[in-house]
Amino acid sequence: MALIPLAEAREHVLTHCAPRAPLAVPLDDALGCVLAAAVSAGEPVPPWDNSAMDGFAVRSADVAGASADRPVALPVVATVAAGAAADTEVGPGQAIRIMTGAPMPGGADAVVMVERTRGGPDATVVEVLEAVVSGRNVRTAGSDIAPGQVVVDRGTLLGPAHLGVLASVNVRRPFVTPRPRLGVISTGDELVDDGRPLAPGEIRESNRPMLVALARSFGVDAIDLGSVADDREALSAALVEAAATCDAVATSGGVSMGDFDLVKVVLGELADMRWMQIAIRPAKPFAFGVLDGTPVFGLPGNPVSSLVSLSLLGVPGLRRLAGRGDLDLPRVVAVAGPGLERRPDGRTAYQRVVCRWVQGRLHAHPVRGQGSHQLASAADANALAELPDGDGVAEGADVTVVLLSAPST
Ligand code: AMP
Ligand code: MG
Repeated sequence: MALIPLAEAREHVLTHCAPRAPLAVPLDDALGCVLAAAVSAGEPVPPWDNSAMDGFAVRSADVAGASADRPVALPVVATVAAGAAADTEVGPGQAIRIMTGAPMPGGADAVVMVERTRGGPDATVVEVLEAVVSGRNVRTAGSDIAPGQVVVDRGTLLGPAHLGVLASVNVRRPFVTPRPRLGVISTGDELVDDGRPLAPGEIRESNRPMLVALARSFGVDAIDLGSVADDREALSAALVEAAATCDAVATSGGVSMGDFDLVKVVLGELADMRWMQIAIRPAKPFAFGVLDGTPVFGLPGNPVSSLVSLSLLGVPGLRRLAGRGDLDLPRVVAVAGPGLERRPDGRTAYQRVVCRWVQGRLHAHPVRGQGSHQLASAADANALAELPDGDGVAEGADVTVVLLSAPST
């Protein structure tokens, strides 16, 4: 079977993944969702002129000549805190004590910050030590958001501050493309996940917790659907059930060349499925099918392969379902550390590397064990170095890396 380029497999996945239907969701569930309709402000933010400082609301003309040597004394006629409104105006020659965020009282056109005054908290007269121009330390109504203004555009991937902006214009349930729900199933008669001692031939199941967490780290709502034995009926029932309850399904195992690699067989019977051998290392085998309208990613069982496969082929499909435009994990150029070696084999190698910032540039160092079963070494990696077919990338040369997580400083 001819190896097919990663880009072709990715394209195949994308053509079968359409964005989910938009939905109004509560604000605290909207992080990481794509906004499906632009939001315009129905009200100004701030809603009224207010003070940017703790200090004294004054008429700027009254303190035009004020300085530390020649303070201007003004009687304090009221105090106004955030959440309250002054019931008196600042008359000529008067001041009102005001806290940050409190509405500007009528009559005043500027605020003198408390540090530029003398008098203390209970003083009935304040001495102003500095002149202020009209508008000083006043945040005017609508200076953050004007009514009618588009505050968040359609297609925006909602981050924490966007949620704050939506709340500030009273949007409690934004209309978004919801995050997809991915059901994760592992397959294999050898898998044990209940803590009992291992019988000969058995191994501990490790892919499910990893794939669920990995998908979540990429902004997907992943759920653990358990392990299924290498049994046609059981597998078929699990896949049908998963496809009916999730927006996408990822299986691990059973897509290689072995006699018991049943995922590709069962998917072939149930779904519009394509089984591929991809020109990458690790993660060569990959199956993709659409089962009752739900995309199914058949990831390889070797733990590192399943991680690489979900990152390179699962992520674009899942992000397309989520309505995102940034389909792939970020690819950046790093400085190659020593040891990014490989042998020519007609495939692109994705070596697990640790990327670190050194004087403003990312440096990529391979982790020690590069075998597709060596998850313990891969666990420390934060990126995959993309090594084109050949002998590797020389130390100090540029190397493209796919970031799995943000490198720390
Ligand atoms: P398979 O793709 O099913 O042929 O599995 C390839 C290799 O990965 C075998 O050594 C399996 O035992 C191992 N493997 C498969 N699934 C898992 C899993 N969920 N957790 C740990 N190892 C697995
Ligand atoms: Mg297997």
